[in-house]
Amino acid sequence: MSFPKTRLRRLRYNPIIRELVKETKISVDDLIYPMFVCTGENIRNEISSMPGQYQLSIDNFINECKNVTRKGIKSILIFGIPENKDESGKIACQDNSIVQRAIKEIRKQNLNLLIIADVCNCEYTNHGHCGTIIDGDVDNDLTIQTLANQAVSLVKAGADIIAPSDMMDGRVGLIRTALDNSGFERTPILSYAVKYSSAFYSPFRDAADSTPSFGDRKTYQMDFANSREAFREVEQDLNEGADMIMVKPALSYLDIIYKIKEYTNVPVIAYSVSGEYSMIKAASQNNWIKEMDIVMEITTSIKRAGADIIITYHALDIADRLNNK
Ligand SMILES: [Zn+2]
Repeated sequence: MSFPKTRLRRLRYNPIIRELVKETKISVDDLIYPMFVCTGENIRNEISSMPGQYQLSIDNFINECKNVTRKGIKSILIFGIPENKDESGKIACQDNSIVQRAIKEIRKQNLNLLIIADVCNCEYTNHGHCGTIIDGDVDNDLTIQTLANQAVSLVKAGADIIAPSDMMDGRVGLIRTALDNSGFERTPILSYAVKYSSAFYSPFRDAADSTPSFGDRKTYQMDFANSREAFREVEQDLNEGADMIMVKPALSYLDIIYKIKEYTNVPVIAYSVSGEYSMIKAASQNNWIKEMDIVMEITTSIKRAGADIIITYHALDIADRLNNK
């Protein structure tokens, strides 16, 4: 009997062989867990549109950081929910602002935890936009001054990596200069370089209380129809001194992750955002899908597309899954 010599199923019969030939593996070392810290005491507010995610006051935040490290996750990304907001987000630059205080408290715990501080104004402005408003829109050059001050203050508090998420032009360069001038030339910048204006962010805006009170973010975040523009954003940020590049969101942008990975030699980080998380949660609460099977498949696809590191709200569940294997 003549039959093709190629039998691709040969490598699929034995589960150990399948594991041996697996091309893409997720590890806890690949994951960054995003967290929200708020003012007050003993607060643990579940975010209604993001079941399983919480706004935590510093005391509970510290306990959660310990839980994170116990599971083997070594990196967190911090967002702050301040008590008061102002016109230009300058409140985020104060050394006693909420994230700075939280970082100082984590540092006292001597946890083996890398602290990445998000840098943006939108959680701190009373209008919810990512910077200072002039004539009804965010003013680029005023905003980046505030961001540079915020970045220096966060590093002074103990942040290991600075992650500007605002999408202003020139902010990476100005932050780099400000950090260097303050003696922080060893602190890396992880730039939200390719951040699309996306409907997938809306649960985050509940979480961080940062919904714009007017208009949208289309004058600073990218149009989701564009991919070549992503190269220009990456070029700009690398020229200004970014050490790592982010693509955000992840799931609907796997082509962008792939292209950016081919294009650049710096680490590529993908942010699997709140809307991606909430869709999985909602479907699994209805028993329409098997939550962790979907989570592993999607997270693997993000890595397979080219992401070196993945920021995900599922990080702790993925760690449990990997640890119990
Ligand atoms: Zn923002």
